[in-house]
Amino acid sequence: MNLNFYLTILFFLIISNFNFSQTNMNLNILQGIKNPDLIGDTIKLEKNTYYAFKKMKKAAKKDGIKLKIVSAHRGYDRQKFIWNKKFEKFTSEYSLNPVQAIEEIIKYSTIPGTSRHHWGTEIDIIDENYSEEKNVLMSSKFQKDGIFYNIKQWLNLNSEKFGFYITYNDNPKRKGFKHEPWHFSYAPVSKKMLSLFLKSDLKKLIQKNEINGSEYFTDDFIEKYKSEYILDINPYLK
Ligand SMILES: [Zn+2]
Repeated sequence: MNLNFYLTILFFLIISNFNFSQTNMNLNILQGIKNPDLIGDTIKLEKNTYYAFKKMKKAAKKDGIKLKIVSAHRGYDRQKFIWNKKFEKFTSEYSLNPVQAIEEIIKYSTIPGTSRHHWGTEIDIIDENYSEEKNVLMSSKFQKDGIFYNIKQWLNLNSEKFGFYITYNDNPKRKGFKHEPWHFSYAPVSKKMLSLFLKSDLKKLIQKNEINGSEYFTDDFIEKYKSEYILDINPYLK
C-alpha cells in the first residue's frame, strides 16, 4: 500500500469525525445544553438575536417605549426542573393521571430538549415601567386596558422590521401552545434552528428517564406534539 492510500483514509477519518462533532454541537445547541454563540449576563441570547434586540430596544426608546426581556435563553436543566415540578404538582396536588398532567403542562410549557427558548433566539417581553409587577406573562395584561397594551401595540407595528415575529399567535385555528402575546422569535436565526431541529430524532430526544412521565410519550403523542406544538406556529417562522 502506498502513502496516498493512507492519506486518503486519514482524510476521510478527519472529515467523518468533523461531521460527528458538528452534529453533536448542533444537538447541544438545539437542546440548550451548550451554545458557544450566547452572549449577555443574566439574560443570555444568541449573538445575532442579541444585537437585533439591542437595535429594536433603541428604536422603541425613541418612541417612548421601554422594552424589557424577562426570559431569553433557557438551558435544558432549567426546563427539566420546570417540567418535573409541574408534573409532580399536577399528579399529586391536583390528582391528575400522568396523561392528563402532560396535556395540562404542554398548554404553556415544553418538553425539556424541545423548547425554542433553548436556542437563544426567543424572548418574552414586557414593559420596563412595570418591572415589579407579579405574574407578568398573562394574556389579559397585553390586551386593551392591560398594563402592557402600549408596548404590545408598538411591537405589533415594529417588531418584524427588526426580525422579531410572534411565535404563538392568536389565530383561533392554530393548535399547540396557547397564544403568547409576549413571546417573540428572531426569525433569521430561529428558522435555521427549526429546520435543524426537524432533522433530529425527536423520540430519542425526549424519551428519557429523567423527564417525568416520559414513558407516556407514545409514538402517536410524539407525532401530535411535532405537528401541533412544534410546527403549528406563526407561518413566517417556518
Ligand atoms: Zn417564551
